[in-house]
Amino acid sequence: MSEQVMSNQVPEDIDIECTWCKNNFVFCVKEQEFFKEKSYDFPKKCKECIKKKKQINKTRTKTKTISKESD
Ligand SMILES: [Zn+2]
Repeated sequence: MSEQVMSNQVPEDIDIECTWCKNNFVFCVKEQEFFKEKSYDFPKKCKECIKKKKQINKTRTKTKTISKESD
């Protein structure tokens, strides 16, 4: 009778607290779907901190190649 109750939840944006800067950031539905599709864990850091982390990784690995991607 009520089969669609649980399986058809309406996705919505969620707030996550960044583990680094402790700011809340929005994890939007589209991103959630993307992460689920890839079966990634939900992010624990805001985009700013992820950026920072990437830069740290870059400097740590000391890659000579300068990233071609431009934001
Ligand atoms: Zn953060």
